[in-house]
Amino acid sequence: MDFGLNEELTMFHRAVRSFCEKELKPHASTAHETGELNWDAIRKMPSLGLTGLQVPEQYGGVEMNTLGAAIAVEEIGRVCGSTGLTISAHNGLGCGPLLNWGTDDQKERFLPLLTSGEKLGALALTEPQAGSDLLSGAQTKAVRDGDEWVINGTKAWITNAAWAPVITVLLRTDADTGSRGFSMMLIETDREGFTIHPPEKKMGLNASKSHMLTFENVRVPASNLLGKEGDGFYQTMQTLDNGRISIGALSVGLAQGAFEAMVQYAMDRTAFGEPIASKQLIQEKIANAAMEIEAARTLVYKAAWYKDTGKNITKIAAIAKLKATEVAERVSFDAVQVHGSAGYSREYPVERIYRDQRLMSIGEGTSEIQRLVIARNVLKEFDAGIPMPS
Ligand SMILES: Cc1cc2nc3c(=O)[nH]c(=O)nc-3n(C[C@H](O)[C@H](O)[C@H](O)COP(=O)(O)OP(=O)(O)OC[C@H]3O[C@@H](n4cnc5c(N)ncnc54)[C@H](O)[C@@H]3O)c2cc1C
Repeated sequence: MDFGLNEELTMFHRAVRSFCEKELKPHASTAHETGELNWDAIRKMPSLGLTGLQVPEQYGGVEMNTLGAAIAVEEIGRVCGSTGLTISAHNGLGCGPLLNWGTDDQKERFLPLLTSGEKLGALALTEPQAGSDLLSGAQTKAVRDGDEWVINGTKAWITNAAWAPVITVLLRTDADTGSRGFSMMLIETDREGFTIHPPEKKMGLNASKSHMLTFENVRVPASNLLGKEGDGFYQTMQTLDNGRISIGALSVGLAQGAFEAMVQYAMDRTAFGEPIASKQLIQEKIANAAMEIEAARTLVYKAAWYKDTGKNITKIAAIAKLKATEVAERVSFDAVQVHGSAGYSREYPVERIYRDQRLMSIGEGTSEIQRLVIARNVLKEFDAGIPMPS
């Protein structure tokens, strides 16, 4: 086994770290307070490939493997959760389905726009009545009319929608066929009858925006179908498997940011005549955080490696996401605690991280759903005999 990054990934990692330190970290608090992303930094991201992490160079990306993409998202999340979610959703949910199932024509039309640093990508699955249970709950539908599809319905919580030239939307194309009754379509955001509503008011990730979308007789050409008719549910599950590695990476980044702030504060803050870092109860929090972050990162990297070596990632991606999101929660809680009253102040980054991380155990499959996915896969494996550790 080799736990080290190769030379290319090591250099990429360093370049992303230095970009984030220079371009994102100094503005993270302002982004949190004003609710505005630092677009100057986003416009510079194409030079490093951050707006096209897994997109081939011909469309403006750097075609990193999954591990490289995870490292980049982790580094962005370490300094700014809002930008982390924006870029994670853009790459994984926005560019991902187009890369996996787009025709050459669809890729040529949309990917250069998405990697330009001027626009962002989005994926619309969730509806007001359906999040975890898309299969029986999702009602937004597309009905064939000659050479066009006519779309009606509502999607909810769609990240990056207002910055997207095109959104991949999960639609019911056949009411009677269960999981085969869904298809994915590319909907340009300037289509008549399509409305992007004002951003949701959230508890954190203030500069990342999520919107309700409504479709009233929106017409798109048949050629906007992404992949095959009837494949939409399968495409959704595959996209979410990949997305879970990214949310896991983002959670590791958030935990790492909280950890660094916690250790620094513990060394600087004096109580009872010495730095609080010398108190053993504070050291316990530092040790627990170091151990938990290491474990979460190792799982996320392992899930990425599974993906890059063509293995099935459903179980390991759910394990990695679940672990990393729970670690982000615990570490950011302790980071606030170690800061005392300063941790409750918006002057320090840990308050922001504590809010930002809260989404991670909800978005792209809640923790309950991850546990169901893990247990279902474990039971299936045991059906075939007690498996060797892998
Ligand atoms: C900031 C933000 C950004 C988002 N971005 C996007 C986006 O870009 N695109 C998109 O499509 N969606 C997006 N979402 C939606 C997100 O994916 C859903 O919120 C999530 O899947 C959960 O769905 P829900 O909110 O409908 O919760 P529900 O499905 O209603 O679940 C409510 C509770 O019930 C639990 N539950 C549900 N079913 C079970 C079960 N079988 N067993 C045990 N417990 C269960 C859940 O775990 C949860 O605790 C975003 C959400 C947020 C908050």
